[in-house]
Amino acid sequence: MPARQFLTEQEEQQIVEAINTAEQKTSGEVRIHLEHHCDGDALDRAAQIFHDLGMDETKLENGVLIYIATEDHKASVYAGKGIHREVEEGFWNDVLQILITHFKQEEYEQGIEEAVHKVGNKLEELFPYRQKGDLDELSNEISFHDNKN
Ligand code: CA
Ligand code: CA
Repeated sequence: MPARQFLTEQEEQQIVEAINTAEQKTSGEVRIHLEHHCDGDALDRAAQIFHDLGMDETKLENGVLIYIATEDHKASVYAGKGIHREVEEGFWNDVLQILITHFKQEEYEQGIEEAVHKVGNKLEELFPYRQKGDLDELSNEISFHDNKN
């Protein structure tokens, strides 16, 4: 399924809302990237996108990228060093499992929203929101890449 058709406009808004809500409780940053194809490894690709989106430049290195290749049915979760070294083993895999379980039922929006919740709760625990100096360092909008190759 083309990346642009993966979610309805309303579903897209629901996800942006979920990110807004999550980021009100943490200094961390969550982003979603959807694209058509992923030829190689989904985690390698996510690492590249993470960099391309400037996600490695957050102050506390606590950005989390949820990456989905809609046509090739690949997904991965990539996190900045600041959060990656703090979470327990298996955490990212648990987030990925939420996506996979819902995607199998074609519940794309729910899968992403639940994954955002899980990541948001972890970010809140590790990087609680501070009233002063906490910025929205990265857009909460979904990032799309319609590669056709
Ligand atoms: Ca922030
Ligand atoms: Ca943000």
